[in-house]
Amino acid sequence: MATQQVQYLLDFIDASPSPWHVVDSIETQLSAFSFVKLNETDKWSLQAGGRYYVIRDDSSIIIFVMGQQPLVKTGFKLIGAHTDSPGLRIKPNPATASDGLLRLGVEIYGSPILATFADRDLSLAGRICYKDEHGKLVSQLVQCDKPLLRLPNLAIHMNRTVNEEGLKLHKQQELPLILTRLTEQQLPCAYFSDWLQQQIDKEIESILSWDLAVYDTQQGVFWGANNEFYANSQLDNLASCHAALLALLDESVLESGNMLVCAFFDHEEIGSESQKGAAGSFLTDILERIALATKTDREDFLRALAKSFMISADMAHAYQPSFPAAYDSEHKVLVNQGPVIKVNANQRYSTSSGSEALFADCCELAGVPYQKYSHRNELGCGSTIGPITSSLIGVSCVDVGSPLWAMHSIRESAGVWDHHYMIRAMRQFFAE
Ligand code: ZN
Repeated sequence: MATQQVQYLLDFIDASPSPWHVVDSIETQLSAFSFVKLNETDKWSLQAGGRYYVIRDDSSIIIFVMGQQPLVKTGFKLIGAHTDSPGLRIKPNPATASDGLLRLGVEIYGSPILATFADRDLSLAGRICYKDEHGKLVSQLVQCDKPLLRLPNLAIHMNRTVNEEGLKLHKQQELPLILTRLTEQQLPCAYFSDWLQQQIDKEIESILSWDLAVYDTQQGVFWGANNEFYANSQLDNLASCHAALLALLDESVLESGNMLVCAFFDHEEIGSESQKGAAGSFLTDILERIALATKTDREDFLRALAKSFMISADMAHAYQPSFPAAYDSEHKVLVNQGPVIKVNANQRYSTSSGSEALFADCCELAGVPYQKYSHRNELGCGSTIGPITSSLIGVSCVDVGSPLWAMHSIRESAGVWDHHYMIRAMRQFFAE
């Protein structure tokens, strides 16, 4: 069971090389469970027990199942996560040529471990906007599924201290990725726009814009003597999105009669402040529209929010025994030892003792082990969508996640059992 669930996760990630593809993959899964797509521009009529989802700008999605009782009685049960991962994005005028090589200029998105991008079989995925034959603006997903780009390392003979000092890359000069060899007659910009045009399988006049993310073509794998670990790109945070999705799409959860919401946001890695980020209006707008569509007045809507609870799911820092000094010795969280509850007195995590207790109880009822994490005091602690959404909608929230090695590397790894445990804990929360 646990291995099967992780295989689904690896397939999900391999089919989702960019945040725009992530939402597309989720939409495909929802269609098998009779979910109805809603547009924010339409008037909504929602049925008790109905299954719906809303997408904002292709890469954030809110999925919900209507409860069987009035909203004011039940409140919302929410799980939040993010669809984006740190990495490299192609600049608007990326093509630069020198010494017969065409390279693509990139912008750094969020905080990736840049050195991990060297010597990988990289490629491009994203969306392209163009005008179709009827003069309509169209946005189309594109994915080049072969190794296309590369950032070759410098040989150790030219970088003698690399093993003592680590690989340091100049963010402007040394990150452009090699695409091809150019002849003297070929123009760099024309070459790249021709290549882009070929990615859309249609005759079109011109490409107007694009979002292109660099991704690693290597597929997910199981590893370890007993295949108890797995590795892939984007585990932060597609593993959490996937766990929440599998928890939601369980028949006992779908038929529980509870008011259930999964909110997966883009732009977490860059601070969440955008039209579709967790600090934007997306979640508040959708919750309010659910209230309006069910003729819930403003006071009852606020009462419903006061009754609501949110799990903010994002990956946690698993203990790596080679680096004991990086961890608080009393708060080592171990791979395959269960979901991690993240606690931070400065509210970098939204957890309070009350919300912590509620999630711990869910784990106990589900028969799942759990662990508690606190960051070392002299290191800056990361944050999540938890404090942001909980401030915006005034809902009690807990920050949790599965233990993960090498967060923000292009190749992260985690434990098979943790994914299974997280799904069970979330299922318990949704169904009870
Ligand atoms: Zn994350």
